[in-house]
Amino acid sequence: MRVLLVEDDPMIGEAVRVGLARLGITVDWVRDGELGLQCASSEPFDAVVLDLGLPRRDGMQVLRDLRSGGHLMPILVVTARDALSDRVAGLDAGADDYILKPFELDELAARLRSGLRSRSGRADPVLRSGALALHPDSKIVTKAGAAVPLSAREFALLELLMRRPGMPMSRAQLEERLLGWGEEVASNALEVNIHNLRRKLGADSILNIRGVGYFVPRDEATCTR
Ligand code: CA
Repeated sequence: MRVLLVEDDPMIGEAVRVGLARLGITVDWVRDGELGLQCASSEPFDAVVLDLGLPRRDGMQVLRDLRSGGHLMPILVVTARDALSDRVAGLDAGADDYILKPFELDELAARLRSGLRSRSGRADPVLRSGALALHPDSKIVTKAGAAVPLSAREFALLELLMRRPGMPMSRAQLEERLLGWGEEVASNALEVNIHNLRRKLGADSILNIRGVGYFVPRDEATCTR
């Protein structure tokens, strides 16, 4: 396994490089975000370990640039223990996983291996509707090839609809899933999420049959016969 480490802290960087090498993982280490983006874009790494606070280009920006450039390798974000908003933003921006500082090298190695397994073992096919493509594994949505940042909830709702294109799902069916996300949901939460998705993806991205439900358009099959 060959991993790109993007980390500006010399102590952490050296410890990770040496520690992972002992576990049989080859580490290429760069110390700023600009170089990180360049290397990750041009060389075939199995995974990227990405610090967020980086000189020259912020880690979150590196993440977005890689994903919008179509690079789908597993990316593990390294973040401070108290920065919950960073974790959420990282996952929303296309990170596969995160690890909290300070971390054990064994845990980092285990996360890298499981990231690779989930990527290669049960790769979920990309879901499509019109110009939209949803990547279930990397949690990315693109419109005409450009990544569109969605909240975790918007993503989950869109994934639900895109798994059944052309088949309306009732408000009750969808709300059941919303409640399944584990917190109290405002009575208009579904409408708010649909509204946000349409605003980000286009008014015709999600259609509605009054009294029946919401759905995404199904692409016309072009080669069925
Ligand atoms: Ca840093």
